[in-house]
Amino acid sequence: MIYKRSSALFKEAQKVIPGGVNSPVRAFTAVGGEPIFVEKAKGAYLYDADGNKLIDYINSWGPLILGHAHEPVVKAVVESAEKGTSFGTPTEIETEIASLAVSMVPNIDKIRFVNSGTEACMSAVRLARGFTGKDKIIKFAGCYHGHSDSFLIQAGSGAVTFGTPNSPGVTGGTAKDTLLADFNDLNNVAEVISENKDEIACIILEPVAGNMGCIPPAKDFLEGLRKLCDENNILLIFDEVMTGFRLAKGGVQELYGVDADIVTFGKVIGGGLPVGAFAARAEIMSHLAPEGPVYQAGTLSGNPLAMAAGLAMLSELNNNPEIFTSLEKKTEYLHKGLASVLTEANVTHTINRIGSMISVHFSETPVTDFKTAALGNNDTFKKFFHGLLAEGVYIAPSAFETWFLTEALTYKDLDATIEACSKVAKTL
Ligand code: PMP
Repeated sequence: MIYKRSSALFKEAQKVIPGGVNSPVRAFTAVGGEPIFVEKAKGAYLYDADGNKLIDYINSWGPLILGHAHEPVVKAVVESAEKGTSFGTPTEIETEIASLAVSMVPNIDKIRFVNSGTEACMSAVRLARGFTGKDKIIKFAGCYHGHSDSFLIQAGSGAVTFGTPNSPGVTGGTAKDTLLADFNDLNNVAEVISENKDEIACIILEPVAGNMGCIPPAKDFLEGLRKLCDENNILLIFDEVMTGFRLAKGGVQELYGVDADIVTFGKVIGGGLPVGAFAARAEIMSHLAPEGPVYQAGTLSGNPLAMAAGLAMLSELNNNPEIFTSLEKKTEYLHKGLASVLTEANVTHTINRIGSMISVHFSETPVTDFKTAALGNNDTFKKFFHGLLAEGVYIAPSAFETWFLTEALTYKDLDATIEACSKVAKTL
């Protein structure tokens, strides 16, 4: 494939945008090479600036569960735009989408809309601190909750330590309130809690991790966290920015039958427009301004275009729950196909999958947390990524990401993907 125009556009972009991109992972830093500039997209395909057609497994990093430019979503946005793009006043559609979301997701009474997953998680933690009157939070190594200061903390070698910032600009003062634990390791979490008794406001996690590849929770991990939280007066926050409205109507809470205290959303809930949300029982949400003292606000929050897109998307998922089964079947088919061609070519690999989330790791060991995810062979991943791209298959440009399937993918697309993978596997 030719990427001449993308390359020229990237050079121009770098003159006026840091790194040429508005979100770092888009820059292909982890895999080398230059990013592709997209001109348009429809269904399961991206069309780039050079006229190449690519089968898309990123889907805007998750939101486009029904495919690009899905007609009901586009129609809702266009009709809404004609009536005005922002009012800064309450609108009826905010209540409509809130009621629908509350009816789909277990264990929540009220929901507040924001503009991104970052805002949702940042606000959820502030609410947890305000509700419990405690300062510290526990996050897991390898889980991503957006770019707000408290979350940009990386594990050192010891798991049970105070965090240190992994981005300049995050103060030591902020970092010290973020405690780190290992995903899927309940004993480790219990240790961190006992060393910080009565100081922890919340545990936040991706209940199915998607930001170190796809890592489902080990058996009893979520139940164990629930129990530890109940015993220690700690709120459990499920960051369902990736998994919400994707793995099931009610997300991971429904799928695993474990209740969270606060749930955060992004991606699918906005149908591809900038939307995030956080939700909880009324007792917790009543602490938010203007009902309560915990401040949180947004000029464009509940934006009519974003709400229209989100409502169209959630309505379709709510009315057609068979979409989740269909997506799971497609992902299973892809899993089997990828595993078979990689095995045939003697490529060491581990594939993790749940629902419509899947990731390929070039490692022998099961991938269950950040440490095991990091054991994957990055050189092989780079070759795999660029090989697939040359065959017209676009996956996330980093081994620490998940592939998101869309219902717009046909079995023909999946076969083409498996065929591409078979060709690339022989070169690895
Ligand atoms: N939480 C999770 C689980 C995410 O995957 C992301 C983004 N990939 C975020 C939070 C942050 O969302 P946003 O990029 O919309 O700020």
